Amino acid sequence: MNNEIWVFVQVNGQIIEPTSLQLITKAREIAGERPVVALITETKTMNVETTVKEYGPDKIVTLKDAQFHNASDGEIADALDQVVSDLKPNSLLFPATVLGRSVAPRLQAKLKTGLTADCLDIYFDGDDLVQVKPTYGDDIMCEIICPDVRPQMATIRPNIFKAVKHSTDTEIINYSFAFHPEANIEVLSEIPVINSSANISEAKTVIALGRGANNEKVIEKAEKLAGKLGGMVGVSRPLTDNDEFSHENQIGQSGNTIAPDLLINFGISGAVQYAVGIENAKKVVSINTDAHAPIFGKSDYAFVGDADAFMSALLEQVR
Ligand SMILES: Cc1cc2nc3c(=O)[nH]c(=O)nc-3n(C[C@H](O)[C@H](O)[C@H](O)COP(=O)(O)OP(=O)(O)OC[C@H]3O[C@@H](n4cnc5c(N)ncnc54)[C@H](O)[C@@H]3O)c2cc1C
Repeated sequence: MNNEIWVFVQVNGQIIEPTSLQLITKAREIAGERPVVALITETKTMNVETTVKEYGPDKIVTLKDAQFHNASDGEIADALDQVVSDLKPNSLLFPATVLGRSVAPRLQAKLKTGLTADCLDIYFDGDDLVQVKPTYGDDIMCEIICPDVRPQMATIRPNIFKAVKHSTDTEIINYSFAFHPEANIEVLSEIPVINSSANISEAKTVIALGRGANNEKVIEKAEKLAGKLGGMVGVSRPLTDNDEFSHENQIGQSGNTIAPDLLINFGISGAVQYAVGIENAKKVVSINTDAHAPIFGKSDYAFVGDADAFMSALLEQVR
């Protein structure tokens, strides 16, 4: 085992998922003498190393194969298992995105080590990576360590840390590995990702809909309003059961952390599992018929009243 901290760099198409870069900066901040290594899986024609290098990892390890274009989460975990088992890093960080949350536990099981999901902070205590996350309905923070086995693995929420560029000499290693396709998986069609979690995490304006705004008319108006304001529509957990929304639109503990300049909540009660995802929003406006809804405690501006009526009036005002 070496003492390196590795960060898995998620690539969506040609775009680097921003949390990966945030984690490289955080890893450098807590590393001390430990080298920081960016771990990239990509096709042979891609070259995200150039961008990743700007964030100052000491090393970049790339796994290149044409099949990464369509790779399943299991295939990615298999490829990562080969390099991690061989080079034995001390710690391995993943973005807590839809992909990171799927690949990290698959890899953890192969490596027979521990994994802390959805961390909000990390730091070293000696050789132990202390992984900080909310627990008991988010009322308290707990600190988790994995003292007996390595690597120490964690997924970390988007937008907790800032990505900062840093100039350093970065060694680049193209690691040789074997891509093992999973049996019986045939790609029938490809659907481009329009609403990736990276988008809602990065949106500057978010129109968020909850159960109190869950009807076709309001959803249509919300899409219009988001379009006019150059923002995106996000939802609380119940609305992910609608056909038009998925987990990738979900805000909160088991969804996405957002950090917009403006967030407008329509018909959302403000349960702790939702509230934890909006802590970094700069200005929060909430509309709810219940004057005692907890969401108002998290808001800069409150309107007690009907979501549809407020949204219609706002649409009239925004040209
Ligand atoms: C382990 C775990 C993880 C979870 N993760 C998440 C998560 O990531 N994200 C998430 O959102 N939830 C999550 N939840 C669910 C969470 O606990 C809440 O149930 C959920 O956030 C409630 O969504 P809501 O506010 O839309 O609905 P409700 O709590 O039902 O609130 C609806 C609100 O709408 C208001 N209202 C009703 N009619 C109107 C109207 N006409 N106009 C305006 N307001 C109106 C009501 O007063 C009410 O406050 C999780 C739960 C668990 C146990």
